[in-house]
Amino acid sequence: MSGPHLLSLEDALERILDGVLPLRAESVPLAEALARVLSEDVVARLTLPPWDNSAMDGYAVRAQDVAQAKPESLVTLRVIGEVAAGHEPAVRIEPGSAVRVLTGAIIPPGADTVVAVEDTDAAQGVAELPATVAIRVSAPGGQHIRRAGSDIREGDALLPAGKRIGPASIALLAAAGHARVNVHRRPRVAVVATGDELTPIGEPLGPAAIPDSNSESIAAQVSAAGAKPVRLGIAGDDLEAVRERLLEGILAADVLIVTGGVSVGAHDVVKEVFSDIGSLDLWRVAIQPGKPLAYGSAPRPDGGHCLLFGLPGNPVSSFVTFELFVRPVLRRLRGEVADMGRLTVQATLVEPVTTSAARRAFVRVRLEPDVAAPGRYLAHLAGGQGSYVLSALAAADGLAIIPEGAADAPAGTHVEVIRLDAEIS
Ligand code: AMP
Ligand code: MG
Repeated sequence: MSGPHLLSLEDALERILDGVLPLRAESVPLAEALARVLSEDVVARLTLPPWDNSAMDGYAVRAQDVAQAKPESLVTLRVIGEVAAGHEPAVRIEPGSAVRVLTGAIIPPGADTVVAVEDTDAAQGVAELPATVAIRVSAPGGQHIRRAGSDIREGDALLPAGKRIGPASIALLAAAGHARVNVHRRPRVAVVATGDELTPIGEPLGPAAIPDSNSESIAAQVSAAGAKPVRLGIAGDDLEAVRERLLEGILAADVLIVTGGVSVGAHDVVKEVFSDIGSLDLWRVAIQPGKPLAYGSAPRPDGGHCLLFGLPGNPVSSFVTFELFVRPVLRRLRGEVADMGRLTVQATLVEPVTTSAARRAFVRVRLEPDVAAPGRYLAHLAGGQGSYVLSALAAADGLAIIPEGAADAPAGTHVEVIRLDAEIS
């Protein structure tokens, strides 16, 4: 079963990603832009700050007027007005005068520095404007002044194409005048489960039935990868039923994921259906779990094509193959630059692991910081490593990679671990 016909993970991934391009761009309001990926460089529409403004509540003055101010010899200035944020200055500072300013207020003409209210005799938080203010300290020119354009200038590059929009990007885009942005369309992903034993979750189970957990986990993985799942339910182990469901699925989807029925069993019809409705481009990869992975594509009536993934039915296998193969494709379609987007960490196995030497293994592990080696982790087996053992998958922080050729990895082996809970962008 594990002869030379098995593709390596790299070869399979390269073949799968070859020709996968980001989806077309669309304009979305900023409120819908979170976690989307910019399809073009964005340039600032506004200069930030738009004008010199005060960083403090205080008094705008001329630095030379307060040069002699000391705690034991205060300098008293006439207060000739006030500027609050959102109001244009109505007065100009003349020698010997001061204007009360609030944080964010435009610096009035004639002033070149700001003295914080704490460094004056003025009461804080009082609405009434004093007639005079006594200054306790000198102030260098430009103190507490946020200069026009010191953050961003109109026309400056703001964010590059390929940038995933997080909350900080939203802040920058909003401040720089962008109510909408152009981002790549979110992939639509049809999800089909196959198997006569499957029952939709929540429905009563017959004597030989199990809940269809794959539809739920795959849809969740699709959402977590920033794409939109479209659940198409369950098809029985019957070529015609699977074919019909897949033909329905490809109509509106960029990617179709079918779980189960891709192995070598008598009822494993998925590969045949791929060939029938499009092409089966790849089958079986040298990984454990997940060997029977199938990949292909099918033309859509609208002239496009739908990428087809046949994931093994065992729930851990479908989960792991989604991580390794589908997630990178969805990221590429979304416009992300890094393919896998998962953080990996270095760890030491606490227990020995036995795997198939012919295949690269992805072992479900729990991680614990290694106090003896800062930055490294100790990897504990998260539970049984059978491809049906969901309790271990749910307990795992990551997948420890055991390379091909290393059938037995003793305790103490150094491994790389793909963190399932942490992303890079
Ligand atoms: P298959 O790949 O169809 O041979 O299925 C392998 C194993 O995974 C069998 O034990 C199936 O019952 C189980 N299985 C297949 N599909 C699902 C599913 N959607 N949800 C839960 N278990 C499944
Ligand atoms: Mg099956």
